[in-house]
Amino acid sequence: MKKTIQGQAGAPVFDSLAKLGHRFRFIMEMRLYDTLTRETVPLFAADGKRLRMYACGPTVYGPAHIGNFRTFSLLDVLRRTTEVAGLNPLYVRNITDVDDKTIKGSAKDGSTLGEFTKKWTEKFHADCASLNLIVPDVEPRATEHIPEQVAIVEKLLANGNAYVGGDGSVYYRVASFCEYGKLSHFHPEELQTQDTNSAGKANAADEYERDQVADFALWKAQKDEDGAVHWPGPRHPETNLPIEGRPGWHLECSAMSIKYLGESFDLHAGGEDLCFPHHENEIAQSEAATGKPFSRHWMHCVHLLAEGKKMSKSLGNFYTLADLVAQGYDARAVKYLLISSSYRSQLNFTLANLKGAESALKKLDKGIEALLAKAGLSRADFDSPVFDRASADDALKTSFGPALEALFDDMNTAAALGAMWNVLRDEASGNKAALAALKTVLYALGIQPIPSKEDDAGADEAPEEVKALAQKRWEAKQAKDWAAADTLRKQVTELGWTILDRKDGWDLKKA
Ligand SMILES: [Zn+2]
Repeated sequence: MKKTIQGQAGAPVFDSLAKLGHRFRFIMEMRLYDTLTRETVPLFAADGKRLRMYACGPTVYGPAHIGNFRTFSLLDVLRRTTEVAGLNPLYVRNITDVDDKTIKGSAKDGSTLGEFTKKWTEKFHADCASLNLIVPDVEPRATEHIPEQVAIVEKLLANGNAYVGGDGSVYYRVASFCEYGKLSHFHPEELQTQDTNSAGKANAADEYERDQVADFALWKAQKDEDGAVHWPGPRHPETNLPIEGRPGWHLECSAMSIKYLGESFDLHAGGEDLCFPHHENEIAQSEAATGKPFSRHWMHCVHLLAEGKKMSKSLGNFYTLADLVAQGYDARAVKYLLISSSYRSQLNFTLANLKGAESALKKLDKGIEALLAKAGLSRADFDSPVFDRASADDALKTSFGPALEALFDDMNTAAALGAMWNVLRDEASGNKAALAALKTVLYALGIQPIPSKEDDAGADEAPEEVKALAQKRWEAKQAKDWAAADTLRKQVTELGWTILDRKDGWDLKKA
């Protein structure tokens, strides 16, 4: 794995990272498949400072299911891996808090849209925390960015890329953007021939409102069923009066990504179902409004099957995290299973595999204990924040290097886990560098080993003789007399006690 200096100028990258107090000194090469160019290419921050990445977040109208969380967990691995690679990510993930489903749900609940989406946003955050997902740097909500969305629609109207349809809504004129289809390779003409399926029928139902079936709503004119959910929108080109209504779904991601990451940014990610039409529409409206390339790189996560089939409520294979936890499964095991196949491969999520993930976590815990014992360290050391992760550069030099390399090579989580298990199964010699590297790999994967259940309050109960030996061993360690330290540790063990190394001393635990 080679070290690369990325950005337009080499040296300033290091300077700026140093100024930010960034923990990793080097930028490692990380490659990722790009849906736009259909090539696996290096990821880099165009400004040489921060990798600006945007991910489409949840629509908060009910509990997210494990399919949603497979995408969010993989995007979390992406965010973590880019951090380990030294790319200094700036991660923005939105909350869709206004659309047909949230409006319908709040009406059914008898609550306001704000109360309803707050409840489901909190549930989403709690699930994210159970899955150990890092909170994004910015998590903007659609309803808090109405003026930004209106500004884009007005620009598109002025540029001739949008028009007011028969129902008073504003539509994007797909034919006005000649590059439409460049991401998904799906072309507007194909949409015209789809009238036989249900989507086609839905399209046909309101085709009188827009000029072409492929045209999509940027701003939806107020309807009775929207109740109190409406804002003054873009000005009508003829009357110059604001059109009362609400934003179309695609628009929010353009407005919020541009606001927080700039008109052109490094990486846009989401589930594969969003590639068309959502991301295609985001590109069309953003690039027509700004005249600049939108995201340079696009990443899509392949969906999962549940029990070998597409998830559906009627098949009984529709799992939420709450369902699984209620059945006694560990959220950590859910997370482990969700990332166990690469983002470009389909995962079959089954309850049998989930049991397998639980036992894998138990084995991981045992593997860590074994490496610690060989290194003469305690579990408390490993769990302590003082026991630092290795830098990517240092981690790559250890036996866990291949696990990190697999993540840097198109984020192959399956290969990374395989490489990690190779080391743990081999019971390789434990040393502090390898353990620090393992900690880095687990950090990148967002996997939390089962925490130590050690009781720290044991030292007082230990006989004076044991305490004296522990103190002598500590002094031998300080004097770097490893042989004496080892002998003393063995004597303590023979007396039925385990020494727990602390940063500034020791503790004792009954063995
Ligand atoms: Zn989006």
